[in-house]
Amino acid sequence: MVKWRIELRWATGNTMQLSKLSYYSDFVVYPLVLIALTAANINHVTWTSGTEWLGAAMSGLVLWTLAEYVLHRIALHRMAYFSPMHGQHHAAPLALIGTPSWISVSVLSLVILVPAWLGLGFNLADGLTVGVMLGYWWYGLVHHVIHHHANKSSPSYFNELRAWHMRHHYSPKGGNFGVTTHVWDHVFGTAISVRHKAVASS
Ligand SMILES: [Zn+2]
Ligand SMILES: [Zn+2]
Repeated sequence: MVKWRIELRWATGNTMQLSKLSYYSDFVVYPLVLIALTAANINHVTWTSGTEWLGAAMSGLVLWTLAEYVLHRIALHRMAYFSPMHGQHHAAPLALIGTPSWISVSVLSLVILVPAWLGLGFNLADGLTVGVMLGYWWYGLVHHVIHHHANKSSPSYFNELRAWHMRHHYSPKGGNFGVTTHVWDHVFGTAISVRHKAVASS
């Protein structure tokens, strides 16, 4: 009941603050959805369809990194409905702010799986969706580690992405919208150079 109230408030745009259960559910729900989507196709795998599936999954992963950049730069920082909610994350980076799993799974299914299934068939649609969802799950994990495990020794991969993301949070210059990769910031000219030092960290 409480969870529903919180998620309803999310849907009405007043807050993105989630319950602990809702916040951490992505880390469990997505692996299960990914296993289910992969298993849904496993009986039909031939060498050709397996290769096509893998290619679609790789494309989905790359597509996610671009979506991550575009959604963060445009929707979360410029669009009237979403930017106040993302502003809460910038104001309180350690707050449990995010998108409930049932909303993100539904949106990704409606936007990726269904249209791709209708247009490309199930094998490619399934692979593409697995790639996008894997990317989304990895983004959530990386962003969580960046903020919530800052004082713990984490692999240099995370430390490097943390320094990059801190410049997004605290540099006076807007940029570094990619979280899991720098690539699109370099492509679109929004990378913040290390000369623009972070003024704080968390
Ligand atoms: Zn941001
Ligand atoms: Zn952040």
